[in-house]
Amino acid sequence: MQESNEQRQIPLDFLGDLKRTHNCGQLRAADAGNRALVMGWVHRRRDLGGVIFIHLRDREGVTQVVFHEDVDASVHAKAEVLRSEFVVAVEGKVEPRTPETVNPNIPTGEVEIVAEKVWILNESKVPPFPMDEYGEIAEDVRLEYRYLDLRRPQMQRNIIMRSQVSFATRQYLYSQGFLEIETPFLTKSTPEGARDFLVPSRLNPGTFYALPQSPQIFKQLLMISGYEKYFQIVRCFRDEDLRADRQLEFTQIDLEMSFPQQETVYGVIEGMLAAIFDAAGSPITLPIPRLTYDEAMRQYGSDKPDMRLPAFREVQDLFEGSGLTNGDLPMVAIVIPNAAGASRKERDEFKAVGQERGLRVFDDSKRLERDFPEVMAKVRERTGAGDGDLLVIATWAGEKQGHRPEYTVLLACGHLRLALAAKYADKHKAFEGKVFKPLWVVDFPMFEWDEEDGRWMAAHHPFTSVHDEDLDKLTTDPAHCRAKSYDVVLNGIELGSGSIRIHRQDIQSQVFSALGLSKEEAQAKFGFLLSALEYGAPPHGGIALGLDRLVMLLAGEKTIRDVIPFPKTAKGTDLMADCPTPAADKALRDLGIQLRKPQPK
Ligand code: ASP
Repeated sequence: MQESNEQRQIPLDFLGDLKRTHNCGQLRAADAGNRALVMGWVHRRRDLGGVIFIHLRDREGVTQVVFHEDVDASVHAKAEVLRSEFVVAVEGKVEPRTPETVNPNIPTGEVEIVAEKVWILNESKVPPFPMDEYGEIAEDVRLEYRYLDLRRPQMQRNIIMRSQVSFATRQYLYSQGFLEIETPFLTKSTPEGARDFLVPSRLNPGTFYALPQSPQIFKQLLMISGYEKYFQIVRCFRDEDLRADRQLEFTQIDLEMSFPQQETVYGVIEGMLAAIFDAAGSPITLPIPRLTYDEAMRQYGSDKPDMRLPAFREVQDLFEGSGLTNGDLPMVAIVIPNAAGASRKERDEFKAVGQERGLRVFDDSKRLERDFPEVMAKVRERTGAGDGDLLVIATWAGEKQGHRPEYTVLLACGHLRLALAAKYADKHKAFEGKVFKPLWVVDFPMFEWDEEDGRWMAAHHPFTSVHDEDLDKLTTDPAHCRAKSYDVVLNGIELGSGSIRIHRQDIQSQVFSALGLSKEEAQAKFGFLLSALEYGAPPHGGIALGLDRLVMLLAGEKTIRDVIPFPKTAKGTDLMADCPTPAADKALRDLGIQLRKPQPK
C-alpha cells in the first residue's frame, strides 16, 4: 500500500501538468540562456556543501543540474534529500559551464541547468547495483532485478538498437512489397526438429497444442493462398537443452516469397541486411560473398565459417609419399596470423584439442621444415603463411568415419582452427572492434545421417527442394543429394537459414518416404500441407533470420541475453518473475491433467 505524504519522510510531488521542454541528452552550448524543464532519474549526486550537483538521466542521455544554496535555499534543501534513482523534474536556466568544468565525455557537457524549481516525483530504495556500473555485475542479480538492469545505459543502447533493427527491417520489407501477416501460436507440431512446447486444451481435454518452432508451414500456406510476399518478426519456441547461447523463445525475421530463384531471396536479404547495418551505424558492402557448403567445408571446416581469419588449405597432394598422409583423406594447413613462436606447452595444448576430435596434429612446423623443406616451402606458398604466422598441419589419425569421411576430417580441422583463433586472439587481433564479414553458404546436403536413430534426416527441414540435377539420387544416393538451401552467416555465427521449397505433392511425398516417414505418418503430421499442395501451389521459397543474434553482433555483445529484454537463464527460468511454477490443483483438474514423477533422462 502506498503511504500518504504525511507519513513519509520525503514528501512527493505530483506530475500535475508539468511538461518537459527538453530531454536529458539535448542541451548544447547554443541553448545557454534559455530555460529548460527536464525529467528523469538521479544518476549521480555530488554534495559540496553550498552546491549540489546531480547528473539527471533519461533515455536520451545525462544532463548536469546544479543547486546553489545562494540561488534558492529551499530548492537546495530539497536537493539534499535526493539519492540515486530518485525520479525528479527540474526547471531552471541553462548556463554555460566554465572551461575547466566542461565535460567532453557527454554531448551535453558544455552546459548545466541552474535549478530554480525541483519536483520529487518518486524516491527509490538503494539499488542492488549502481546504474553507472560498467564493470561486472553477477548475471543472476541482473536478471532478478531486470527492470533495473534494463535502466543501465548499456542495456538501453542495446534495446534501442533492437527496436531500430526491427524498424529498418519493416521499412525495407514493406518497400519491397512484403505483407506483414500473423500466424498462430496455438498450433500443431512444426518440423524444425527440436522438442515442442505443449499447451493443454481445456476445451478438448486430453489434447494439446504445440507452440510454433517456426511459422514454416503457415508461411508456405500463405504462398499457396496467393499472398506472394510475406514477412513477420515473430517469436518462435523450441524446448531445447540450453547448452549454447540459446533461449527457449527467440525472435525470427521470417519471410517467404512466391516464384523466386535462390538469387531472388539473396537479393532481398542483402538489401535488408544493408538497411539494417546502416541503421545500426555499421554499413556493410554488397554483394555478400558466397561459398557452397562443400567449399566452406574444404576451406574452413565449417558450415558457418568465420571469415575474419584466413581460410585453411588442403595440402595432402603436397605431402604425397611423405608417409604422413592418411589415404585420400584431407590434410590441412591452418594459418593463424602473427601467432608464430608457440611454446612447447601451448603446442601440447592445441595438439590435445585436435586429438580429442580424432586428428593427428603436426604442431612443430620447424621440425616439418627440417624434414620436408621443399614440401613446406610449397605449403607456405599455398597458404601465404609468413615467418611471423603460426602454421599447424593436421590430418585424420584413424579409420575413415561417417558417410562423407572427408567432411568428418574437415570438421575436426575447422574446430582446431577456431580453437587456435580463440587462443591467439590477442596476437591476430581479427576479433577486435566491429568488423562484420557476412557470407552465404549455399547448396547444403539434403540429408544428414542420424547415428542415434540410424536413418537419414532432413538437414534443413523436410519441405526443402532438392537440386533439380540430384532429384534422381533421392532414394539411390541420399548422401550426395544437394538441397536448394542457403544460410547467411556472420563472423562464424549462423544468422539464418532458408530454402526453395517443394511445391509439388509428388516430390514432397518422395522426400517424406526418403526420410522414412510412412504415408500415414506424413498424413497425420502434415496432411493439411500435403492436401494444400494439390491445389495449385506456386514455386516458393524463403528464409528466417535470428533477430536476437543479429542484434547481439551489431551491439558487440557476447550473449543474446544482453539484447533480449526479459531472457531466461540457461536452466530456462525467469529469476525476476520466478517461473516456471507448479500449477494449482484446480487448474490441472480443469485440464484433466494428473502429474507423474518426471522420468529420469
Ligand atoms: N523455418 C526455417 C527455420 O526456422 C527457416 C526457413 O526455412 O525459412 O530455420
